Amino acid sequence: MKEIRALYPAELKEELVQLGEKPYRAAQVFRWLQQRNAKSFDEMTDLSLALREKLKAQFFLKSAAVEKVLKSAVDGSRKYLFRLHDGELVEGVFMPYHHGNSVCISTQVGCRMGCAFCASTIGGLARNLSAAEMLEEVFLVEEESGERISNIVLMGSGEPLDNYDNVVRFIRLVTDPEGRDLSARSITLSTSGLPEGILRLAEEGLPVTLALSLHASDDERRKKLMPVARRYPLSEVLSACDTYFKKTGRRVSYEYAVVRGENDGSAQAEALAALLHGKQAHVNLIPVNPVKGRNFEKPEAAALLAFQKILVKSGINATIRRSMGADIEGACGQLKRHYIEEGTV
Ligand code: SF4
Repeated sequence: MKEIRALYPAELKEELVQLGEKPYRAAQVFRWLQQRNAKSFDEMTDLSLALREKLKAQFFLKSAAVEKVLKSAVDGSRKYLFRLHDGELVEGVFMPYHHGNSVCISTQVGCRMGCAFCASTIGGLARNLSAAEMLEEVFLVEEESGERISNIVLMGSGEPLDNYDNVVRFIRLVTDPEGRDLSARSITLSTSGLPEGILRLAEEGLPVTLALSLHASDDERRKKLMPVARRYPLSEVLSACDTYFKKTGRRVSYEYAVVRGENDGSAQAEALAALLHGKQAHVNLIPVNPVKGRNFEKPEAAALLAFQKILVKSGINATIRRSMGADIEGACGQLKRHYIEEGTV
């Protein structure tokens, strides 16, 4: 059985014609799935009962639910724990910004990339999310918060390029003019740095923003924080990012999680500036959120500012990400771990 919410309009049309239905029915079903987040075929009341029965017999319409919401008292962000149809849990975050509301969603249950600062990878990868499940994360946040989402960040649990086909399908569906109609430019895909995936994405004709998790300016340091760096040297990853920029015209964002005493010194800032010299780059400095069981501390505010200053002085656009949801288990994977380990949050 196919998952109906993951079908493109043309695929849905083909399926319905094969069921003996008129092609225009597909647009009607697509809208129910992609604009109104129908959770069952019975909700599709403008379809005949006979068609609804046919759909039930042919397709899955799985639905996820919000298991838990934590609302920040300080900045309006909300952290979500979603329960997927098979009981697996993933996280999402809603962030209100002055330029619009953003949602950060997960693309896999767990992750196999093993980044040292990340709680999502502690149990490894359980499974990929389907495109439909990613869409549901967005819809569920909109339903629960009552807010319209204008930006999506693929930066929750999972490495998006390790679930390439489903992620690209999700992007095409959520940007479909007959569906949720979001602009691809308002989607950011964050990767730990898989060059083949970056080069493939560059050819998709999707102007999404690519964000590379850099976190160190040399291979040796990067390998300590991100095992993926043992497979792909920085030179290869950065060259793929350059190609991405050339093909899409989209400036690449370089994410740098700043850890006190690890990578927050002026020497590292100089090295980072040298590494990105001459690129159309934007650096996002992310003060790391301490993770239970991991030995990382937030950098001093002064060290962070000094780091940013060095980059800006070298002509590199750099911003310090406002740390959101610090009072609600802000770091990736923490809410889920607490929920599982302690049965509550
Ligand atoms: S930071 Fe991202 S890529 Fe790295 S382990 Fe965590 S979820 Fe995976």
